[in-house]
Amino acid sequence: METHRTHSEQAERPRSTLPAPQRRVLSAGQVRAIFDAMRTFRDDDLGREEGAGIFICDRCGRARPRAGSVAYGELRLCNGCATDYELVRTAGLERDLLLAPENAERD
Ligand SMILES: [Zn+2]
Repeated sequence: METHRTHSEQAERPRSTLPAPQRRVLSAGQVRAIFDAMRTFRDDDLGREEGAGIFICDRCGRARPRAGSVAYGELRLCNGCATDYELVRTAGLERDLLLAPENAERD
């Protein structure tokens, strides 16, 4: 006889079974850490030959300094776009960012 399935037994179970990669709100510390990291990239590049010159950013489509740019697979993003991307990615929203360069044709 299994009639003792109580209310409380069911109520305690569900929590940990949701692996949903949810959107997260970034803390100020996380945002700052990302900005710091991206600035460090740029500063490092400025001290090297690779940081010299200009390239066309694959996201914003503009001519940008190579210093601080970041390669993501075949794409290279300028420091500003890479910072955006890192913020968005850390927040769990990264999926369509690289696929939808909606800003590229705007102006
Ligand atoms: Zn860019």
